[in-house]
Amino acid sequence: MESPQKTSYQPAAIEEKWQKTWSELGLDKTPQDQNKPKFYALSMFPYPSGSLHMGHVRNYTITDVIARLKRMQGYRVLHPMGWDAFGLPAENAAIDRGVPPAKWTYQNIAQMRQQLQRLGLSLDWECEVATCSPDYYKWTQWIFLQFLQAGLAYQREAAVNWDPIDQTVLANEQVDNEGRSWRSGAIVERKLLRQWFFKITDYAEELLNDLEKLTGWPERVKLMQANWIGKSTGAYLEFPIVGSEEKIGVYTTRPDTVYGVSYVVLAPEHPLTQVVTTSEQKTAVEAFIKEVTNQSELERTAEDKPKRGIPTGGKAINPFTGEEVPVWIADYVLYEYGTGAVMGVPAHDVRDFKFAKEQNLAIKVVIVPEVGAEETLKTSYTEAGILVNSGDFNGINSVDAKKAITEFAEKQNFGKLRIQYRLRDWLISRQRYWGAPIPVIHCPECGIVPVPDADLPVQLPEEIELSGRGGSPLAQLESWVNVPCPTCGTPAKRETDTMDTFIDSSWYFLRFTDAKNENQVFDFQKVNDWMPVDQYVGGIEHAILHLLYSRFFTKVLRDRGLLNFDEPFQRLLTQGMVQGLTYMNPNKGGKDKWIPSNLVDANNPVDPQTGEPLQRLYATMSKSKGNGVAPEDVINKYGIDTARMFILFKAPPEKDLEWDEADVEGQFRFLNRVWRLVTDYAAAGVCKQKPELDKLSKVEKDLRRAIHIAIQAITEDVEDEYQFNTAISELMKLSNALNDASCNNSPIYAEGIQTLVILLAPFAPHIGDELWQLLGNKDSVHKQTWPSFDPAALIADEITLVIQVMGKTRGSIQVPSQADKAELEKYARESEIAQRYIEGKEIKKAIVVPGKLVNFVLG
Ligand SMILES: [Zn+2]
Repeated sequence: MESPQKTSYQPAAIEEKWQKTWSELGLDKTPQDQNKPKFYALSMFPYPSGSLHMGHVRNYTITDVIARLKRMQGYRVLHPMGWDAFGLPAENAAIDRGVPPAKWTYQNIAQMRQQLQRLGLSLDWECEVATCSPDYYKWTQWIFLQFLQAGLAYQREAAVNWDPIDQTVLANEQVDNEGRSWRSGAIVERKLLRQWFFKITDYAEELLNDLEKLTGWPERVKLMQANWIGKSTGAYLEFPIVGSEEKIGVYTTRPDTVYGVSYVVLAPEHPLTQVVTTSEQKTAVEAFIKEVTNQSELERTAEDKPKRGIPTGGKAINPFTGEEVPVWIADYVLYEYGTGAVMGVPAHDVRDFKFAKEQNLAIKVVIVPEVGAEETLKTSYTEAGILVNSGDFNGINSVDAKKAITEFAEKQNFGKLRIQYRLRDWLISRQRYWGAPIPVIHCPECGIVPVPDADLPVQLPEEIELSGRGGSPLAQLESWVNVPCPTCGTPAKRETDTMDTFIDSSWYFLRFTDAKNENQVFDFQKVNDWMPVDQYVGGIEHAILHLLYSRFFTKVLRDRGLLNFDEPFQRLLTQGMVQGLTYMNPNKGGKDKWIPSNLVDANNPVDPQTGEPLQRLYATMSKSKGNGVAPEDVINKYGIDTARMFILFKAPPEKDLEWDEADVEGQFRFLNRVWRLVTDYAAAGVCKQKPELDKLSKVEKDLRRAIHIAIQAITEDVEDEYQFNTAISELMKLSNALNDASCNNSPIYAEGIQTLVILLAPFAPHIGDELWQLLGNKDSVHKQTWPSFDPAALIADEITLVIQVMGKTRGSIQVPSQADKAELEKYARESEIAQRYIEGKEIKKAIVVPGKLVNFVLG
């Protein structure tokens, strides 16, 4: 056989070639072969900002290794990619630069697709979707109508950010820290508008309970979801208003503290503020309410801000004590939560304590840590304890008291047990252009009329001028808004709100299973065959909303008979951040303190402006810190295989990764070593002999053991926890073992080289295929079966026995692995090491630890 020419490792020369070959071979296409088990590997799809950053590269590399591994392990794999393409940045670009959002978005997609393709990811581009494309949002709209039919979509008034100068609704991201509009600089107001909601609260209990089924999710993500849903068990209690028939309903998780109520607080929006406010307080209260309603929820509830409030002058009666307590209005109580009113128990609540101190309200202790404890407080006591000053309930512990007090209230007819959730319905209306139009028509005769399925999609008009002024862009387009009612023909108006982009991403993983279906949202069989996603990989920033909404959609569509499973994502991996070397000038404040690394000499890090010494640290790569590393720079210098190896080796996937050029070079050198090892071997002629396992030399046996230990260890590393870093360490060990082996002509050496290339392939796919071909193989390495280890090969014939004299290690010898205690002692005594260190002294005792060591105690 002809020896291939010796070459050096040049990633640029081989990477493009293999990407082309794979695409021609259709290697990454989703197989339809039903005989194999399925595996759905999914990365969270990106927003098409126009450029790929290192965080993307890490995310997609992790998923790609998993997809490639699973293919080699005999699975049919679905590994798709798409674009979360609606959203504000495109609209802002249009306003700032006059580029139509569609054009801007599709340009960015084209650019990023090209960047992604350079990464050599084994993606099936035939199922690509873009959420802004009419053939996708047609089905987003269809799904909205499913929710409407199910009674899970409804309209009600809710507050929005209103720019009084531009006369338009702003997204939260368009309001700065000082509460001003990003464009006009006007102080943003809160305004009530009729908006669409999804009734996610109907599914609160199931969303909470089913977290238990998610055994493949990180505990912390499940905890974040549980906290977001925020189930609590407490009591609903009614406080009658003095001089009125009305009662103030409060919800509390601490009914055991009800004897300590020293005031009641209403949210500024609560309708009872009108009833309870006295004429003396009327003007002041109205002014306060006006001021507060312009603040965002975040400002009102921020921990570090003082709680602001005002007395109404009115009083309410504590139904347990008959005592009259003042009624206040305060900004920290939100009308949307609970009943919009709370009972103030300063002695046993941190926030109430602070508020009572600031407003000089009474503080009454009703729970003490133990009987007879002192009843004065420097701070609130929020733990469990024993009730005091609580009438008939004195002496009961607070846990039992909760139940007893709630039952008493129920008997007396002024309260009852209540289960409550923090989760609120999902506001999905956006008064924006670049989103999926909500497919309903408002008819003066029929009310809300769904757009008939045959008329979907409700297309976004392309010819539209976006100014960022004068309200919703779609509402300004009369030719689009005015339509006849589909039911009765009366002149009617289209809904002009578009949907929250979180809706687009709440079902894209379903569409990937049947991405090109023009007649249906997806084929029932296909979606239920591929789903749930077996491995989902993405950032922790999506731990709450995206995952919760996707779970909600799955459950709703299941209840509509479209899906036959409860949860969309079997296993979830939240990869850590990519951090860059960052320079900071500690003497500067604000954004100026970050000195972009391209302005700093790494050997002498000083501020280029002031000459002051800089601090070095690692921080998440970002434009503002100037600490990013561009993926294309790394690829141009080292190739994508090295970049992948570094990313996978430097840290376990879920941990943060510090970008370190020296370690990137380390991986480049490793790939070079593998290259030399394999090309040297191939140049000497590939061995075609079959090994005779019962006739192996010791050297061959040792090498074979190293090979099978590598297979075993790497398979375990990639099986469950995806410990790619330790898997790559094992690859390095195998490469070293081959390098050191003195049996290059043996069929075992050939097995070692082949195995090394196959095991390397999912991590460094291009060099993997190139070396595989150099070994004379015709088929792609990615079509090879993942090797399994031979347990017999793992058993060592010999073991290393450590020899100690008086507890001190003096050396080691090789002994047969089956040797018993007596034999081990004999080998040790006779060894040259023992002879040398004992020097004829008397051996008092020999301590034998089988399989490990012999220790000689001298007299
Ligand atoms: Zn009508």
